[in-house]
Amino acid sequence: MARLPSPNRIKTHQVYTVWEAAQALGRHRQTIIRWIKDKGLEADRAKVPWLIRGADLKTFLGHRRSEAKTKMALHHLFCLGCKSPQEPDGKFAEYTQKTPTTGMLKALCPACGCILNKVVKRADLEAIRAKIEVAVQQANPRIVSLPEPRLNDTSAREAQTHGKAQLG
Ligand SMILES: [Zn+2]
Repeated sequence: MARLPSPNRIKTHQVYTVWEAAQALGRHRQTIIRWIKDKGLEADRAKVPWLIRGADLKTFLGHRRSEAKTKMALHHLFCLGCKSPQEPDGKFAEYTQKTPTTGMLKALCPACGCILNKVVKRADLEAIRAKIEVAVQQANPRIVSLPEPRLNDTSAREAQTHGKAQLG
């Protein structure tokens, strides 16, 4: 992600055209226009050139910076397609234990349908489950329980039973 420009370069009491704002921030004019059209940057669009109050630009930049700094919520997964954190579609995710302390959270992006993956700590799972439904998978073969004994093999079942009794 490109570094976000500092709001300190903008003077609160100045009014900027799109071009001037782009110059002041070292950004492309199209970027400023996109901020106005799509990202909620306040601008006077009654006439061309559009005018942006310095104070509004500062607020906008400050907000974006703090948003970028804010840690993603535990139950949100970053979508590379949408370039933003997303809450799992249907508030449902799958958790697969990968190591004794971490696992992979997998969900669908509600916006674009991509599969989202995120490594999470086992310790955070309860906090995540407080927000969304999580189906826990035990995929690590070292963690998965022993395979079912064959039902027609009595001696094997007995051996298993004895084995369990000794372990338990
Ligand atoms: Zn997405």
